[in-house]
Amino acid sequence: MDRATITVAAGRPAARPEAPLNEPVEFASALTAGGRVEYTRHDARNSRAFEQVLGALEGGDAVLFSSGMAAITAVLEVLRPASVTRPTVLYSGTRAVLDQRQLPQGPDLIWVESPSNPDLRVTDIAAVSTGSGMTVVDNTFATPLGQRPLQLGADVVVHSVSKYLSGHSDLILGAVVCADPELAEQFRTYRELGGAIPGPMEAWLALRGVRTLDVRLRRAVASAEVLAPQLAQRDDVQVIWPGLPDHPDHALALAQMDLITPILGLIPTGGEPRAQRICESTRLWRHATSLGGVESTLERRRRHPAESEQVDPALIRLSVGIEALDDLWDDLQAALDAP
Ligand SMILES: *Cc1c(COP(=O)(O)O)cnc(C)c1O
Repeated sequence: MDRATITVAAGRPAARPEAPLNEPVEFASALTAGGRVEYTRHDARNSRAFEQVLGALEGGDAVLFSSGMAAITAVLEVLRPASVTRPTVLYSGTRAVLDQRQLPQGPDLIWVESPSNPDLRVTDIAAVSTGSGMTVVDNTFATPLGQRPLQLGADVVVHSVSKYLSGHSDLILGAVVCADPELAEQFRTYRELGGAIPGPMEAWLALRGVRTLDVRLRRAVASAEVLAPQLAQRDDVQVIWPGLPDHPDHALALAQMDLITPILGLIPTGGEPRAQRICESTRLWRHATSLGGVESTLERRRRHPAESEQVDPALIRLSVGIEALDDLWDDLQAALDAP
């Protein structure tokens, strides 16, 4: 089945007379004894329904966690690597966790974020997955509609479900997806004993959100495809987007990705002060952290002290939403033209 169909069709109750089309939210801790599950820290219906969709989209076995960071920490706890190879620029939370653990550089675990946050570099996943170590790919920026790392040879995919997968900036969840079902079982055990389980309401909302992933993402990508080259025509900004021919990973992005992420980087002339003014003067684009929602947001990443010093202090990360393109363009244009 096409991935667009999977987002809609997977994770539904069996079709029986009077069965609901959607898994209802199940607020329950204990279930009547005698079945496979008796206590919902072990496994819960709403989490399982979302996992069926994400697992089918990625081509693996998905385990839902209470946040993207919980999923990332679970990977380090379950795999217990003695060494890690990682990019210098990656999501600041992941970098902080890897720094904390003081893991030496080495081949045990290859950590990939592609496209990376916030510098939008693309990694050749098939090429880095050939070593003896485990390859883990943070697929948050691409989503499984943009790229399927397990099919390219990666062992584990992690997601911040808080972003595109849920898509409405109204919840925090994360997920691990494994090529090997036995490894996925280890993550389930870790989740059960670690106790950082997703709540039923969040899982239900995430499933409701992922139903429209294909239309949301395609609409946002279509707008990014217009906004990026139009912005690049201005001589007062540099545009960073893997879909543009001058991006260092353009050819790789086209070869590896089915859809390029609708996240753009913008480095305006005038440095940090002008970048900050631009973020504060848009009206439609909301000045906010996070990304991947239906609403367009923008943020100067270095305003966070935890962001890598290798990121340009003037870099603005734009998350293109699904509003009408003309309105997005007019608002950005006005902010860039402001004195
Ligand atoms: C947001 C994000 C995370 C962290 O996920 P949370 O759901 O906020 O815990 C991890 N990786 C990337 C690439 C992200 O953008």
